[in-house]
Amino acid sequence: MKRVGVIGGGQLAWMMADAAQKLGVELVVQTPSVHDPAVSIAKETVFAPVDDATATEILAQKCDVITFENEFVNLDALSVLAHQGVCFRPRLEALAPLLDKYHQRCYLGGLGLPVPQFFALDEVENLKSKIEYLGFPVVLKSRRHGYDGQGTFIIQDFATLEQKLNDETITKTLNQSLFLLEEFVPFERELAIIAARSVEGKIVTYPVVETQQEQQVCRRVIAPAEITPNQVAEIQAIAHTLLNSLEVVGIFGIELFLSADGKILVNEIAPRTHNSGHFSIDACETSQFEQHLRAVCGLPLGNPALQCAGAVMVNLLGYENSHSDYQSQRQQIAEIPQAHVHWYGKTESRPGRKLGHVTVLLDNQNRESASAIAIAHSIESIWYPT
Ligand code: ADP
Repeated sequence: MKRVGVIGGGQLAWMMADAAQKLGVELVVQTPSVHDPAVSIAKETVFAPVDDATATEILAQKCDVITFENEFVNLDALSVLAHQGVCFRPRLEALAPLLDKYHQRCYLGGLGLPVPQFFALDEVENLKSKIEYLGFPVVLKSRRHGYDGQGTFIIQDFATLEQKLNDETITKTLNQSLFLLEEFVPFERELAIIAARSVEGKIVTYPVVETQQEQQVCRRVIAPAEITPNQVAEIQAIAHTLLNSLEVVGIFGIELFLSADGKILVNEIAPRTHNSGHFSIDACETSQFEQHLRAVCGLPLGNPALQCAGAVMVNLLGYENSHSDYQSQRQQIAEIPQAHVHWYGKTESRPGRKLGHVTVLLDNQNRESASAIAIAHSIESIWYPT
């Protein structure tokens, strides 16, 4: 039996549980808190922050291969373990160009993939000329440790930019010298693709989806996205180029912008399973979580195709500070035809925190994105207080 170590114990690790059982794989998790979702499904847990490489050394002794549900790791420290023979999948070299958003943009650009215009915000003297080049609004991003829009700011004018850069709370937590400045992309839609690559180098891709963000946080995902076959092919080609060049083993999520004139830009790479692929649990033959475990265990990849006409996924985000488990709202949502509710079992709700998600399977009668959005809104009207 294969034992897979997972760095990170949030919902992404928790959602590997069913697949692990199906494949006869045991999960050993490294995560700081006993309350983290994956602790309940792990065979064993090493309680430590994800960037604690000493803990990862202990994790390594308990498993055959180590993978990631969270990329906020200390690569330099982990590379010592890799040199000692610890097997990381994806390998650390595949993560190295991605963990800093500035390095990531440089890497993607170097591969010839389309990315927004960007600058590192290193010298403040050059700020004015960079802004003149990009124009307002401009997007300020923390180069590391950003997620769910934390560390991403859309800025309308110079005064606000200076204020943000001088804001003590931000500079303290995010470190001013580690900012990236990029053009605001007036996208028509946001898209994403989940792709997996096996040990042998075979790649499979999931259907391209449309993602809808509010305040930079993913609210809903519609599968498949209503885009042209050429656009699908272009996005699949981006996934192939990226996964092959990094020699990835495992799942990557790729977030993209689609402009009004049909151009595609890569926004961000997630070197792990991704929120935009959650629909695959209920809608595809092989979920992204099973696919990831298959890849890292050296098993043949499964079929990523939709088993229904489409699907809509809605995140259940916290909207208050509470210890409620929202039983009655979940029950009401579960009564929607073809709805599958996934509740991550977090003991504490906070505004914006991902507490669970719902996937509703669509058939030929309601597969258009207008119907999908109507279903999403009906879920949200049950979930969020008016
Ligand atoms: P995070 O790592 O926090 O998810 P992202 O870079 O994915 O940060 O940004 C979150 C969201 O912010 C995106 O999904 C998009 O809606 C918006 N956003 C990010 N960058 C840009 C940009 N350059 N132009 C327009 N919107 C952007």
